Amino acid sequence: MSVRSITVLGSTGSIGLSTLDLLDQAGAEVEVLALTAGRNVERLAEQALRWRPRVAVIEDESLLPELRERLNGSNIGAAGGPSAIEEAGALGADWVMSAIVGSAGLAPTLAAARVGSTIALANKESLICAGPALLAAAKAAGGGVIPVDSEHSAIFQVLQPDAPERVLRLILTASGGPFRTWSRDEMARATPEQAVAHPNWSMGAKISVDSAQMMNKGLEMIEAAYLFSMPPNRIDVLIHPQSVVHSLVEYTDGSTLAQLGPPDMRTPIACAWSWPQRISWPAPKLDLAAIGKLTFEAPDEIRFPALAIARQALSAGGGAPAAMNAANEIGVAAFLDRKIGFLDIAAIVSDTLEALDRAGDLAAEEDADPLEWAMTIDAGARRAAAQVLSRFAIKG
Ligand code: NAD
Ligand code: MG
Repeated sequence: MSVRSITVLGSTGSIGLSTLDLLDQAGAEVEVLALTAGRNVERLAEQALRWRPRVAVIEDESLLPELRERLNGSNIGAAGGPSAIEEAGALGADWVMSAIVGSAGLAPTLAAARVGSTIALANKESLICAGPALLAAAKAAGGGVIPVDSEHSAIFQVLQPDAPERVLRLILTASGGPFRTWSRDEMARATPEQAVAHPNWSMGAKISVDSAQMMNKGLEMIEAAYLFSMPPNRIDVLIHPQSVVHSLVEYTDGSTLAQLGPPDMRTPIACAWSWPQRISWPAPKLDLAAIGKLTFEAPDEIRFPALAIARQALSAGGGAPAAMNAANEIGVAAFLDRKIGFLDIAAIVSDTLEALDRAGDLAAEEDADPLEWAMTIDAGARRAAAQVLSRFAIKG
């Protein structure tokens, strides 16, 4: 592969680190245009000195002087604030890793789509907020979106693109998270430490909590519906505690195709880097004989209501998925801050959606700019969720 220009949005997080590590281990020849972070200025500066991007961008502007100081004398540009992150997305890199967490990833990802970069998409929240607009923008500008989320990478690899009518179902696997066998009473008392202790994957705090409440799989159902143009009733979830089978596609002739691998995000990132080729790197190998047994079970939507909430939001359409995502971000942050209990997150999401729906705030707006509209829904849902949250907050 020739030298490619790249930008990593969210380079200091779990996916960002895996991305740079993979490129390092694969000996990829890259020219880095931008690296961006939220608040981790120390790690961003360290990465910048190693990867020599044109610009390093920190979202929290109060940290820009420190970033400048750390990069002093290096010739690497430094910038700060959300608009500088959006500009980093718009630099026109050949390949952009979208790995910011939350709906904050939407603006820079959409900017990258609009200039025709190939987008390796980890930031699922941007698809939930504005999936159809994001995919249409990428297509119109001649770039593409390659999923990095392991389930969607699996489906992307085994889906025969030209024959949607021959696909019966997409089956998303889910580990079941750390609370797979817990009762509702036990989950009501769960701490942030217990919720982020995922049995198979090492990930950022927000997605770990989402996995524990199965909202991650709810978000992934919506992600799959948009990415693969599938109606909600043809996307199923299957619990698979070992996280070896990453997802499956069931065809009309009785064949079901799956993709397997060790639970290591560098493999789906490698796929998004080289597709339709494959690169070599010292990847951990799958040893099925050592694993011995793979098990599967149906999900329990009573103990994990987030799945049904997400399915309903997807079916309702309009602003419901974006609002669900925003309310969930508020709920997860409050839980991580120990302001509410674990089960309150889904309750807050559900109550917020009901309130917004009653007020008629979730209907689609035909002529709106998709980014502005998604951000309006996002902001409105954050306000509504903050109000609902005050009813749940632990007094103390
Ligand atoms: P993380 O919390 O480890 O990292 C998030 C990155 O975004 C960091 O670089 C952080 O500094 C930056 N950031 C945070 N808030 C920001 C803001 N407001 N503006 C700009 N930058 C900001 O998260 P992660 O686990 O790497 O996940 C990143 C995305 O990838 C999420 O959308 C997640 O759902 C998705 N994803 C992650 C995994 C995984 O294994 N970690 C798997 C599949 C999908
Ligand atoms: Mg996933």
